Amino acid sequence: MKKILYMIPVLLLLVVGMYFHNKAGIKDEEVISLSEDILNDYEDIIIKHGNNEEKLIALTFDDGPHKDFTPQILGVLKENDVKATFFVVGEMVDWNSEIVKREYNEGHEIGNHTFTHINVEKRSYSEINKEINQTQEAVKKVIGKEPNLFRPPYRAISKNMCTIAKDKNMNIILWSNLDPRDWSNPGVNYIVETIVNKVQNGTIILLHDYNNSKNSTTQTIQALKIVIPKLKEQGYKFVTISELMNHMDKDKQTQNKK
Ligand SMILES: [Zn+2]
Repeated sequence: MKKILYMIPVLLLLVVGMYFHNKAGIKDEEVISLSEDILNDYEDIIIKHGNNEEKLIALTFDDGPHKDFTPQILGVLKENDVKATFFVVGEMVDWNSEIVKREYNEGHEIGNHTFTHINVEKRSYSEINKEINQTQEAVKKVIGKEPNLFRPPYRAISKNMCTIAKDKNMNIILWSNLDPRDWSNPGVNYIVETIVNKVQNGTIILLHDYNNSKNSTTQTIQALKIVIPKLKEQGYKFVTISELMNHMDKDKQTQNKK
């Protein structure tokens, strides 16, 4: 009985600690439940994975460009000759435009992740439209063209967002149940293991080139150095989202090429 009594304050501390740990993240990608109806209505433009016949997978990085972390990620990708997709936050594109230029010049794809990382479930049509447009313009200013991929922050889905994306001939890119929650710094091994254990043909992997960490190198960057060679050994090829889509069924290909 005494042992149990000792355990109570320890457990309490743990719970409180975890609560504040999560609170500390200003851009926590908490998964918000998807509205299945909306997903079904717009399934022609929503992508969650590539085809399962080929060993193609896509690394995606959200919430950048970040002046410290993104160049390191670009370095790891370059060393391993891997192409990825960056879903950028528009206001950060304005602050770090050189990094976006580098992403593009090194063969990576740029997608839209709103201008100020909004939750589209809580915003009006005009607010979402403005956020997407501002980011399209910010990217165009740097690389000369607008993205045709959109990823909603927090995995939030709304009908307005889908309508806007469809009107702009953009695809909405989610991910394949492969979210190692790297932004929460769960440990390098956890990130590596989650990816290696869950990866399949056509998987879209969600990672971040933004982190609240004060360290100069994030767990994401350390994990990438391990996980990329591992998956290559297993025969996987890393491609951009557009390339992944080029290997998919006709409907989505058409949407992508419009
Ligand atoms: Zn995000």
